[in-house]
Amino acid sequence: MRTTGEIVRGAEEARERVVTFDAVVVGTGAGGAPAAAELAAAGLSVAMLEEGDWQDADAFTASPRDMMPRLYRDGGQSVTIGDPPIVLPTGRAVGGTTLINSGTCFRTPSRILARWRDEFGLDELTDEALAPVFDDVEATIGVAEVPADLAGENAAIVRRGVEALGYSGGFLRRNARGCVGSGVCAFGCPAGAKQHTGVTFVPKAWAAGAVLFTGTRVRELAVRGDRIAEVVAATSGGGTLRVRADVVVLACGAIGTPLLLRRNGLATGSGQLGRNLSIHPASAARARMDHEVRMWEGVPQSYYVDEWADDGIMLEGIAAPPDQAAMATPRVGPELRELMLDVGRTATFGVMVTDEGRGAIHSVRGRPVLRYDLHPEDARRFQRGFARLAEIFFAAGAREVIVPITGVPTLTGGDIGPLERARVRPRDLHLMAFHPLGTARAGADPARSVVDGDLRVHGLRNLYVADGSVIPSSPGVNPQLTIMALATRAARRIARGRLAS
Ligand SMILES: Cc1cc2nc3c(=O)[nH]c(=O)nc-3n(C[C@H](O)[C@H](O)[C@H](O)COP(=O)(O)OP(=O)(O)OC[C@H]3O[C@@H](n4cnc5c(N)ncnc54)[C@H](O)[C@@H]3O)c2cc1C
Ligand code: SF4
Repeated sequence: MRTTGEIVRGAEEARERVVTFDAVVVGTGAGGAPAAAELAAAGLSVAMLEEGDWQDADAFTASPRDMMPRLYRDGGQSVTIGDPPIVLPTGRAVGGTTLINSGTCFRTPSRILARWRDEFGLDELTDEALAPVFDDVEATIGVAEVPADLAGENAAIVRRGVEALGYSGGFLRRNARGCVGSGVCAFGCPAGAKQHTGVTFVPKAWAAGAVLFTGTRVRELAVRGDRIAEVVAATSGGGTLRVRADVVVLACGAIGTPLLLRRNGLATGSGQLGRNLSIHPASAARARMDHEVRMWEGVPQSYYVDEWADDGIMLEGIAAPPDQAAMATPRVGPELRELMLDVGRTATFGVMVTDEGRGAIHSVRGRPVLRYDLHPEDARRFQRGFARLAEIFFAAGAREVIVPITGVPTLTGGDIGPLERARVRPRDLHLMAFHPLGTARAGADPARSVVDGDLRVHGLRNLYVADGSVIPSSPGVNPQLTIMALATRAARRIARGRLAS
């Protein structure tokens, strides 16, 4: 397969240009790149439009300070407004957020697919129908279980605690061929091991003749009748690109896609566009051990505990280099200094909650504004999740456990009572989120959804959405595989439909 193909760099495009393709796909993340690869493989001429730039792994320094401004939208500082405010970073580059994600791969759980069939009429989304699609996606991005020797001592501690208490857990499956456990996945993989969509599906699309336009931000979708006649983008060099295509696929992510549609007055009929935002909020606890942990060595997200998945609680590994860990430690002043002096003997692990709360996206002067309030029941889920995690840490020999909840003291001597007795309100939690979904949700009923089961925007003949915004409710697991599979399936159906017509 070609690893590089035709790139038209927006930075070098200062004029107006008009091009014609069979299909145009906007965004090259978890949804866009697989859709482009499928459409190209089916014989369509395809243009991939991406606001970010192509990034070479050779230039990745592993330093958060260098890499975050280059690879993240707004330097990774996007925050929701609400109770509590939550940092919600996303990627902006060829590969989208998959370039800076942790590489964890879960198929959509059966109980979630059942919910989507029952609540949203997505009758064709069955385990049987999706299994071959997942097989193909996993083969393309090289999904395999993390070997124990790469998982690091941070994961080994939690594994020991889980085994001592008899809970359900295991090593995660990831898309990282040749991973060396350098621990900096969130800042671009310097080893080039992570199989993000920019180095897997984009080359697949190239091999079938697709053209990639980088530094190209779509702003306008020109409508004629019930079709999109032209997609208009601004290039970073000050030019304009006009793309005429029979098929238009939007894959700008759960924040970018609803804003683009709304800006163009499209898909607003049901009142659902930009609403139903789920974010799968997350946070991490710290444990002080008596031995050297060096949590930044090994795969940061390599182990999970799914004992309480039915209650919407997943525990997953999270670890960071010391400078990042300092920013995320919920202590200040001399206490923070003392903790950081002992950072080599500190373990961390995350709690993620399938949220009941829902947010909404608006824009003010073209900039996204995300409103999201944590549901009180989700706050109680965090409390339960951290209580179980603290037990696991103590069973593995922790001296102290620090949970990111204001008002809960450092837990010592195996006693989780102060955490269990606390009255935890949303504002007491220190949270982040990595999985925005649902803002152009799929469903059979046009009055309750934005796209149909084939991901076509209700009421428009040639406009599709293939990214996290179509996911009807939080899958309760990391979503990249779900997004890739739904995008692949939709693109196959679009291509089949064209051949049949
Ligand atoms: C730090 C971090 C770790 C994560 N870890 C995991 C993990 O381990 N496993 C997992 O399953 N998920 C993980 N995720 C989430 C996962 O990567 C995302 O859910 C997924 O990539 C979303 O796919 P998407 O196609 O919706 O959007 P994205 O992947 O974000 O792609 C959208 C693309 O569209 C481009 N774009 C936006 N607007 C425009 C426009 N107007 N014109 C042109 N281009 C545009 C963007 O630049 C971007 O490249 C993580 C996320 C983060 C932030
Ligand atoms: S642990 Fe290191 S080598 Fe492995 S995927 Fe992450 S950044 Fe790449």
